[in-house]
Amino acid sequence: MTDYFEIHERDSAARVGELRLADSVTTPALVDDVDTETPGDCRHVLDDAGSRWPTEQDAPDGDDSLLTVLPHRGLPAGTPDEVAEAFAVDYPDVSFPSAAVVSSDTATDHGSDAYVLAGAPGYVGHASAFVDAVSTVREAIPADTALYLPGVATPRNVATLVYAGVDLVDPDRAVVRGTEGRYLTTDEAYFLEDLDELPCACPACQQPRDEFDREDCVEHNVNALAAELRRVRRRIRDGRLRDYIEGQARQDNWLTATFRRLDQQYSYLEERTPLIRRADLSAASDDSLRRVEIQRFAERVTDRYVPRFDDRPLVLVPCSARKPYSDSQSHKQYHDAIKWRAHVVSMTSPIGVVPQELELTYPAQHYDSVVTGNWTATEIEFVSRVLERYLEGTDYPEIIAHIPGEGYRDICERVADSLGREFTYTVTDHPTTADSLGNLAAELEGWDRYPKREREHNTVRAVADYQFGAGAGDELFDDLSTQGRYPQLRADDADGEQLAALAQQYGVLSLTTAGARRWVESDVHTKTVEIEPFVPHGSVLAPGITDASDDIRVGDDVVIRGDAAFGVGRAQMSGPEMQSSTRGIAVQMRHVDEQ
Ligand SMILES: [Zn+2]
Repeated sequence: MTDYFEIHERDSAARVGELRLADSVTTPALVDDVDTETPGDCRHVLDDAGSRWPTEQDAPDGDDSLLTVLPHRGLPAGTPDEVAEAFAVDYPDVSFPSAAVVSSDTATDHGSDAYVLAGAPGYVGHASAFVDAVSTVREAIPADTALYLPGVATPRNVATLVYAGVDLVDPDRAVVRGTEGRYLTTDEAYFLEDLDELPCACPACQQPRDEFDREDCVEHNVNALAAELRRVRRRIRDGRLRDYIEGQARQDNWLTATFRRLDQQYSYLEERTPLIRRADLSAASDDSLRRVEIQRFAERVTDRYVPRFDDRPLVLVPCSARKPYSDSQSHKQYHDAIKWRAHVVSMTSPIGVVPQELELTYPAQHYDSVVTGNWTATEIEFVSRVLERYLEGTDYPEIIAHIPGEGYRDICERVADSLGREFTYTVTDHPTTADSLGNLAAELEGWDRYPKREREHNTVRAVADYQFGAGAGDELFDDLSTQGRYPQLRADDADGEQLAALAQQYGVLSLTTAGARRWVESDVHTKTVEIEPFVPHGSVLAPGITDASDDIRVGDDVVIRGDAAFGVGRAQMSGPEMQSSTRGIAVQMRHVDEQ
């Protein structure tokens, strides 16, 4: 039971939380021992009850103004498991804020509010050992507990530590480096004597260069670390820590390696990455292609999405800077030539391919990429792979590539070759020239336009497949009548009862209880939150939950079921977090039926 820690914001594995001491601490935070007098901007709230080695001590008397690190045994690294177990400490059940010391081998739920990773400094410089240790401990302890890495943080590495899932750090390393005459910034560790001027505006740096000594350097280092943590917290609240990490982690090779290693721990990050975000995603490098949001979209388009227009030609077009694509000048021109006679799929880096029905769906209208006109080899490889997998399951009678030269053409030729299919190229010079558009229109001669109703129905079904799983479009929306004007679509059944609405901002469906009942009755796996017998209004809190599907992600529509209520809402935590948390809002309710 966590009494003293609660998560308020999540951004992948990073969180903004609250250590609920008498005077609460916003995490990720810089904390230090209550007895030390570290200069600079730091919270003195740790009380280390000491190592039990070699003599036994009594349980400490804690109080709610401090985070008490419970007595532990410091065993040397490499101690055999059976020895470590024999000397393991039984953590007492205490009624004050407490932290238990764990290693990646022994981490388990001790009922504490925070966990200290033993031997943490040993992981600095070792990317895979660091990522393995942090993710292993994070998975072993409840989600609503803080993870503390002592002796590791610097202004340069702390953003990456937090991105990996760390909530508490201390100034030890920054202090030691300062006493050694190292002046730390977010991008460098300067030798103090090499600095002609001080590249900082913190209080410690407000003095003549020749009076600035190592003691001031310690204070500056702590200030720089605290300032970087403020920036990181802002980034988490904005849902934009990843964009920052892609640049920041480059300041040091072990951080670059750490961040790439984390991307390889896909399931660890995927579980913690929301389905939808308010913030736009900035794709500035090949690293962006490995983001969970990008990989997830590509996976769902190739595995879940069913092309319902493949009884007619496919037109591949380039993406546009303006989103949704159909609002852009170029796409309006393509549309005037196509006139609903073909299925339109946009090719884009970093998303891959975007079928017309999913142009609103996150992140298809929420990304911003650096447009140079030149594709990198990695981008060509990625988009080719997605396009090829997309086309493998389709029966289009004709594939028309209405695309410019350079990267787009390379991709199409590569995929055409690999699949042994012929592509028709309709662009001369540029896709929006009269010649090119004339070629495109001529290629579609003889095909009828499909009706608006078919377009709208297929959009609802495509989004349902994407969001709820393969088959959901047909199972939940077999008899369907759409109301409103795209993109503000409402999905009703044949009798006029509303099943869902398309949320224009994120391109996902918001179910009604009638829609949710269809989901439950279908063969499609239903993301379900089981609750105690009460009727939730507004929100469901974690303690009221008895079980939750493992695959629930933040932003998912979920069914809420209990003896007293049936409802639908949007998840604010992942399923595993709902199962292990004792605090916090788990689901924002949309509709509820008492029963
Ligand atoms: Zn400074």
